[in-house]
Amino acid sequence: MKLSVWGSLELHIYPDAPAVVRALAPDEPVILNRPHAAARAARFFVEKFPGKSLYAVKANPSPELLKVLWASGVTHYDVASIAEVRLVRATLPDATLCFMHPVKTRAAIAEAYGVHGVRTFSLDAHEELEKIVAATTSDAGEAAADLSLCVRLRVSSDYSELSLASKFGVDLVDAAPLLQATRQVADALGICFHVGSQAMTPFAYVQALERVRAAIVDAAVTVDIVDVGGGFPSIYPGMEPPPLEDFFGAIHRAAESLPVSYSSELWCEPGRALCAEYNSMIVRVEKRRGKELYINDGAYGALYDAAHVGWRFPVRSLADDAEGAQEEDFAFYGPTCDDADYMEGPFTLPAGIKAGDYIEVGMLGAYGAAMKTAFNGFGQAEAIETTDEPMASQYLGDRRDPRHSDNVVSLR
Ligand SMILES: *Cc1c(COP(=O)(O)O)cnc(C)c1O
Repeated sequence: MKLSVWGSLELHIYPDAPAVVRALAPDEPVILNRPHAAARAARFFVEKFPGKSLYAVKANPSPELLKVLWASGVTHYDVASIAEVRLVRATLPDATLCFMHPVKTRAAIAEAYGVHGVRTFSLDAHEELEKIVAATTSDAGEAAADLSLCVRLRVSSDYSELSLASKFGVDLVDAAPLLQATRQVADALGICFHVGSQAMTPFAYVQALERVRAAIVDAAVTVDIVDVGGGFPSIYPGMEPPPLEDFFGAIHRAAESLPVSYSSELWCEPGRALCAEYNSMIVRVEKRRGKELYINDGAYGALYDAAHVGWRFPVRSLADDAEGAQEEDFAFYGPTCDDADYMEGPFTLPAGIKAGDYIEVGMLGAYGAAMKTAFNGFGQAEAIETTDEPMASQYLGDRRDPRHSDNVVSLR
């Protein structure tokens, strides 16, 4: 073992996963980083979203990724805990942090505001508003005059693969008094929502923005920020969303028609869409039992979503004889002794796959690699980068350009 590498980050760059396997024959799962893919996603949002893009840090809080996004023009970060506030502040001293979890502790708010310069907070209840006001009032009793407060509205998750509708958000019927009370203490008032993760149609946002319109009309307040949240989709097996330009276009049109469009800023909070393509992972088959493969990562590692919500990630065999082989559908077992450490898939791989073969699991940058690091010492002392393309991409420019179809409509 090279003891000298512990504690320092050694960077190794390889062309692709097969090259990593040839060089290392790794005994443990290996996370691969693709900074070029994250940079491309960031530039796409910065250039094409018709407003400001905040990166939702919880999707993948890796400091290396945060630096890539910052260097690509992402200046605002949606943080959900005081630990994320501290992490992003330490990594990106000049970033603007927005504390968008609607349930925070008083101590977290006070530290975020007083120590880390956070001015934007979200809330979905009067108690939280009182907490924010109390935690940001000076010892001399002077209330903060520089707060941007975003009221989280509950919206439907019907068009998304992962619901976020039941936990947070004030119901439309209760929104008016909360918006009015927040307007009284906020320098800037926002309305935010989250349509659920991996939204499969732009209509999710259009419908949510209709609810925003109703809330604004009901409350008769001026609104300075309309924040459409996250949910922007990535590409997975069986989940091919429309191009992101379709989402941006529909959001732009719906936001433009709001009564506050002349005075308000448009924000979004992509997590998944900015980082899904950033990571893949190399795993090894330790045992085969019929159509079941026992691999060395699972429900308690980067494949949490594959086990717990049946998410299907793309896979490819890295064995020498994989090319052109006949394929079959497999399920995976993870390495722990827990029966729940099971991933139904199906994962399509060469029919002859066997113990000792390596597999690359793609599109693990969002809610995948982030789960892994806490579970395993390997990969913390060395960062492995590859220069090849992710297994799928929203950003390679080979997808339909929706502006062409818009043109057809306007010509009619
Ligand atoms: C999780 C979360 C996001 C990011 O969602 P994605 O579906 O990954 O884009 C954005 N905003 C808030 C408030 C969240 O909780």
